[in-house]
Amino acid sequence: MRVILVTGGNGGLGQAIARVFLQESSENFVWLGVFRNRGSAEQLASSHSGRCGCVSLDVREPKAWKIAIEEILRQHRRLDVLVNNAGSHSDSLLATMPLAAWREVLSTNLDAVFHGCQAVLPTMVAQRSGRIINIASLSALLAPPGQTNYAAAKAGVVALTQSLAKEVARIGITVNAVCPGYIETEAVASLSEEERGNARQRIPARRFGRPEEVAAAVRFLACAEASYITGSALKIDGGIL
Ligand code: NDP
Repeated sequence: MRVILVTGGNGGLGQAIARVFLQESSENFVWLGVFRNRGSAEQLASSHSGRCGCVSLDVREPKAWKIAIEEILRQHRRLDVLVNNAGSHSDSLLATMPLAAWREVLSTNLDAVFHGCQAVLPTMVAQRSGRIINIASLSALLAPPGQTNYAAAKAGVVALTQSLAKEVARIGITVNAVCPGYIETEAVASLSEEERGNARQRIPARRFGRPEEVAAAVRFLACAEASYITGSALKIDGGIL
């Protein structure tokens, strides 16, 4: 049995990642970390009763991590995979960016990954095995204007991934990041038709990615055959970079 925790489990990518692990094996148990919205996560959990559950988790809060991990360990006594997927953005030019928008985006996208890794490492170290997959962004590697907060946070996630991977490689734990480009979820739903058209022109594949295409990469990085892949940042962007 493998126990998997996906943060931001109510969102577009979180749902796709959870589904791919549920499809992978009937032995997998998937925990969905939920924050403000939980409708989709609860639906997925109830349609996979006994194999999927929801746990409240504000990823910015170390105490929330402690309570969530305790709940998972109380039920399963192990945790094999952490997918740090929760994230948010608040775009504006740096010159006019409110300090609150800087802090909130750094906290949700970068501090959260630090808290999450710190919360699960004692269990993974004791097991001498584990997989951590951090959802970064193409913005970490190719920073666009208007996203100084988000690009800095996601670049921080890539650097954290590379550094932590070296710290824990000897004990059978791998740490990898994926860097999605434009993926069809709520996060890009706010783009106007014109913005979508312009974005599509920049993508050599001439289309946005599907959540399932990111989920497939996450599942691969979590599988036994990927045990020699650690500290990598895999871009999934239709060829933009
Ligand atoms: P969504 O907006 O659909 O989902 C984001 C999820 O994160 C939601 O479930 C949201 O919960 C959750 N979340 C936000 N803040 C917190 C918090 N403080 N604690 C816990 N959960 C929180 O976006 P995506 O599914 O597209 O994004 C998933 C990840 O992929 C993010 O890290 C994003 O940055 C990254 N990404 C997405 C891309 C895209 O094109 N879609 C491209 C590159 C990266 P709630 O709904 O309750 O607020």
